[in-house]
Amino acid sequence: MQSLSTGTQQRLDALRATYLEIAGREATGLWFGPGRVNLIGEHTDYNDGFVLPFALEKRAVVAAGRRDDALLVMYSLELEERVEVALSALEPGTGGWSGYLAGVIWALEASGHEVGATTLVLTSDVPLGAGLSSSAAIECAVVAAMCDLYELDIEPMDRAKVARMAENAYVGAPTGLLDQAASTLCQKDFGLFLDCRSLEGVHVPLPMAEQGFEMLVLDTKTPHSHVDGEYGQRRASCEQAAAILGIPALRDVTDLDDALAKLDDEVMRKRVRHVVTENSRTLEAYEVAREGRLADLAPLLDASHASMRDDYEITVDTVDLAVDTAKAAGALGARMTGGGFGGCIIALCHTGEGDLIAQEIAAAFAAAGHHPPEWFTATPSEGAGRLA
Ligand code: ADP
Ligand code: MG
Repeated sequence: MQSLSTGTQQRLDALRATYLEIAGREATGLWFGPGRVNLIGEHTDYNDGFVLPFALEKRAVVAAGRRDDALLVMYSLELEERVEVALSALEPGTGGWSGYLAGVIWALEASGHEVGATTLVLTSDVPLGAGLSSSAAIECAVVAAMCDLYELDIEPMDRAKVARMAENAYVGAPTGLLDQAASTLCQKDFGLFLDCRSLEGVHVPLPMAEQGFEMLVLDTKTPHSHVDGEYGQRRASCEQAAAILGIPALRDVTDLDDALAKLDDEVMRKRVRHVVTENSRTLEAYEVAREGRLADLAPLLDASHASMRDDYEITVDTVDLAVDTAKAAGALGARMTGGGFGGCIIALCHTGEGDLIAQEIAAAFAAAGHHPPEWFTATPSEGAGRLA
């Protein structure tokens, strides 16, 4: 996949040209939705807890405009594929990539908003399926486009909910609000501290570049296996523990030792310990960031990784190797990010060092016979909106 950041202008020119070819007229505008990475707060969302994502500079961009017929026409530059569907024929459960776009139009209509025939031409440099939310990036870009094209006055959090509705009900992927809230609400140099119970989001300053930091995001390229089953087991374990403790969710544990003493099962105790300590770490990260002490995020990232490795048991060899090598190569702190069993790690680095650290990880992967990783460095970027 070509990168928007390295060839931005050419890419956007190609987007406009393809739009012109498909729609027979210039696009009304370009809208974007970013991918995101979760700084801290893993497997806390379904326990009514806290997460702290920030938006990436990698983004999905759609060229969009109204049409005179009754069609939704969609095209992906990366897949070189065109899909068209009559607005009256939008049907949840329709598979494929176009569901992430069509689902938004369907969700807007289902939420009572009036929209019409539209051409949407998509390009994205958010890596697919790496846990960086290429899906929410598309949805949130399309929501932004439709709101402007059809003059819909929808609050940012409600835009995120429309995007999630597209993913949950239309595509059929049962995800929380984290991805869409991050892609829609994030701001440049800020993270989004999100309370997954109240769904309230607070912007918290993460001026990494200004303080001399960057975040290495490295995709281990480990094929995810058994993820759904393992995820279901973790979730069930948390729900059972909450039921035994007589609380609505593990977020409500106020005394960890007391809670652990009430649980007989050793595995369940470990799962609870991860969720409760991860929530505390996420709250602490929020405080640390509010006070502008970004370097103090590092030990929280390290502790989060240890907790996912030892208590929640969701890391794998490649992920642990990447984190350990990052630390040995000079990263201030590092952790796996995302659901686990592969995917990406993040490492807080001094500006300019992320790439060197990644090369050390690549060498360690080669020595161990693992598939080569892919990486980029990131600083917190802007949420969805109009690009041009
Ligand atoms: P993630 O959100 O972690 O990247 P998902 O499985 O949720 O992974 O979403 C990935 C899906 O999004 C892809 O399988 C594809 O259907 C769609 N997608 C992402 N980028 C593009 C693109 N540039 N063109 C078409 N579809 C895309
Ligand atoms: Mg996704």
